[in-house]
Amino acid sequence: NADMAVYRAKSAGRATYYFYDGEMGKQFARNVRIETRLRQALQNERLELHFQPKVDLITEHCVGMEALLRWNDEELGRVSPAEFIPIAEQTGVILPLGEWVFEQTFRHILEWQKQGITVPPIAINCSAAQLKRVDFLPKLLMLLDKYKIDPSLLEIEVTESILIEDAKSCAELLRQMSHLGIKLAIDDFGTGYSSLSYLKDLPFHYVKIDQVFIRNIVDDKSHAALTNAIISLSHSLNLKVIAEGITSLEQLTLLREYGCDIGQGYLFSKALGADSLASDPMIVALNEQAL
Ligand code: C2E
Ligand code: MG
Ligand code: MG
Ligand code: MG
Repeated sequence: NADMAVYRAKSAGRATYYFYDGEMGKQFARNVRIETRLRQALQNERLELHFQPKVDLITEHCVGMEALLRWNDEELGRVSPAEFIPIAEQTGVILPLGEWVFEQTFRHILEWQKQGITVPPIAINCSAAQLKRVDFLPKLLMLLDKYKIDPSLLEIEVTESILIEDAKSCAELLRQMSHLGIKLAIDDFGTGYSSLSYLKDLPFHYVKIDQVFIRNIVDDKSHAALTNAIISLSHSLNLKVIAEGITSLEQLTLLREYGCDIGQGYLFSKALGADSLASDPMIVALNEQAL
């Protein structure tokens, strides 16, 4: 029966398949390959972080950057985080990978500081599996100390799933981080089991509206209405709103009308390599303001 099939699949491997047809076999093989190659990429430094600016929609100043993983594998070519992050989460690779992301980000911050480059706060994406570890915060504190990074330079983006799975211990961790001065953002808002009630109780600073809403706000009245409602509700809870995936001026105009605070998207900038950052007009402008 189906339960037995699931049980067998689970004990035999990592994925759960009811039927093992050709397509699934191929998918499974690719996933296993990605897991193996990803473990190697971590060792061989085939991973890189890029940084996507966040822009204040009123002043158009850069007010933050989001660290995003990039992987160009020798055999697989470029693999998108949208594909490898879920595999890393399922297999536990996310734990060493997540630590690498923190350490690498802090290294970059230190390097920029040495070069005299002012950078805005940097947001790191964190998976539920990372936050659930009891050693998450001690390790983070150790790294902040090792690189002498002011916690106010750090933001953490989490998705709603963590809040549903393990609300209580998660709330405690979020509070501790918030007390340290780390800003917290709820990512991909509107796609999961969105509930504004936990936004009221938890120490979030930002709500990031998922790209699917932004993509459709110009043509689809219901997406526009939902976006507008999320912005109003967030503001009434004292949260700032970040719109993800802004690609057109029409979207920008509408989001400004709705009072959206911050935006991110190809209209402003793609994620930038650590080396090209200093010469990027947005970062140049930020450094001119800082002088
Ligand atoms: P996310 O955190 O929601 O990040 C936003 C994604 O949208 C990024 O994709 C970014 O490159 C993309 N994006 C930004 N502006 C635009 C736009 O205007 N148009 C379009 N079409 N896309 C835009 P990316 O880098 O492929 O990352 C995908 C997801 O992978 C992220 O979604 C995040 O959930 C995850 N991820 C990436 N890096 C990390 C990481 O270091 N740790 C963890 N745990 N997850 C990560
Ligand atoms: Mg994010
Ligand atoms: Mg997102
Ligand atoms: Mg996402």
